[in-house]
Amino acid sequence: MNTLLWFNNDCRLHDNEALNRAATGTTRLLCVFCIDPRWFKNDHYGTQPLGPFRQQFLNETLSNLSKNLHSAGQTLHITYGDPVATLGSLVEKHNITRVVRSQHSGVYENNQWQRLCEKHPQARFESIDTFTLFKREQLVSLDSFPTSFSKFRKFVEHLSINEPFRQIRKLPPPLLVPVQLDAVNKLNNKENIDLPFKGGEESALAHCEEYFASGAASTYKETRNALMGFDQSCKFSPWLAVGSLSPREVVKQLRAYEQEHGANDSTGWIFFELLWREYFQWYAKHYDESMFSFSGIQHKKPLTSFYPQRFKQWAAGNTSWPLVNACMRELNATGYMSNRGRQIVASCLINELGLDWRCGAAYFEQQLVDYDVASNWGNWQYIAGVGADPRGGRHFNIEKQTAQYDPDYIYINQWCSETTERLPMDSVDAADWPL
Ligand code: FAD
Repeated sequence: MNTLLWFNNDCRLHDNEALNRAATGTTRLLCVFCIDPRWFKNDHYGTQPLGPFRQQFLNETLSNLSKNLHSAGQTLHITYGDPVATLGSLVEKHNITRVVRSQHSGVYENNQWQRLCEKHPQARFESIDTFTLFKREQLVSLDSFPTSFSKFRKFVEHLSINEPFRQIRKLPPPLLVPVQLDAVNKLNNKENIDLPFKGGEESALAHCEEYFASGAASTYKETRNALMGFDQSCKFSPWLAVGSLSPREVVKQLRAYEQEHGANDSTGWIFFELLWREYFQWYAKHYDESMFSFSGIQHKKPLTSFYPQRFKQWAAGNTSWPLVNACMRELNATGYMSNRGRQIVASCLINELGLDWRCGAAYFEQQLVDYDVASNWGNWQYIAGVGADPRGGRHFNIEKQTAQYDPDYIYINQWCSETTERLPMDSVDAADWPL
């Protein structure tokens, strides 16, 4: 039997049940990662799904994955092209009888998988939960999908979380296929960006260990809302998003930390945040295309208008609000922004600027190094009041947030040193409005 493993959001060898499954009972194994040309094309929001930060991070991730697979006797085959066509042709030409992948929360990715399954009925297709703490079977007893995070948390809090799978050291021999030499170059940026994160499983595991060894987990609850400071929050998100870090591995290390240093509110809060991540993954699978619709899962249309100039100023960090500007400039320079910052700039786009929340979500998709379809679009819906927030959306008072989180303008001055004065938002005079 020849098996094809389609790597996507599971770029790791540790705790990878899809890889374990693909390696079991097969004569030859073909490990493939597909670079989709769609990632580089502007979407209808005018943004590119895969921006430069994630391109570089993904490039590093794949290089590390390739090295680790090589040590286990395997080869990573990287392709550039529509995944359905590329994988389909590999299935046909190389007598593939089984195709395995990790479950995805993205509608687009799931449609691709569906089409692949339909086009090649002769092969067996298996899709496995490796991105989440829980498995689909554990959630089947839910009568209906919980409309709020609290309901979800109460249900899952006491479910068991499986131990991570053992690290694979030896894989079946590779199925040799012609190599597409230039495929990986599609991820090569002209400039090498100095990212605060290095992609790859090795860096992911090293970071996770260092984080828990630093003792920062014991004060996480007090620090996680800070706007700056690398150790103030866990910084697991970029690796979790691409799957080079398994969430179950994080929980295993968190539990080991608690055993050794004692559990407290802060360690409990790390788990709580991982449950938020979990909630949005299952939410995205459940609500499917509503994740991207203007009226969200609530079928409620927010009041917005089309102000291209406001959007441009927001994206560039050039608004009337120094705190919003600082956050956006940090995002544009590093690909990262704190959770507090994300909430403030999202609320500003929706409430102060009156823009369509999806433009903000699409811009985040392009810029964030830790972009994850479910967490991003789910959080944006939440703040816009069309998602899971029982209070109907969030409106942050920017002045109050500044006084609370950056009273001495330390963060603001780091990113907006040239000016902290308010800039006018709309240059078009109301008198110009057509009658
Ligand atoms: P920590 O605060 O240390 O949290 C630990 C982990 O818990 C994170 O790594 C993450 O996996 C999870 N987590 C924490 N908060 C959330 C949350 N609100 N929703 C879902 N998971 C959470 N997170 C992403 O991973 N990708 C995104 O694309 C993304 N987009 C966002 C967009 C908006 C508008 C908002 C408000 C939040 C978004 N988040 C997203 C959630 C959150 O901001 C980041 O996960 C967090 O800031 C990452 O930093 P950290 O790893 O230090 O997080």
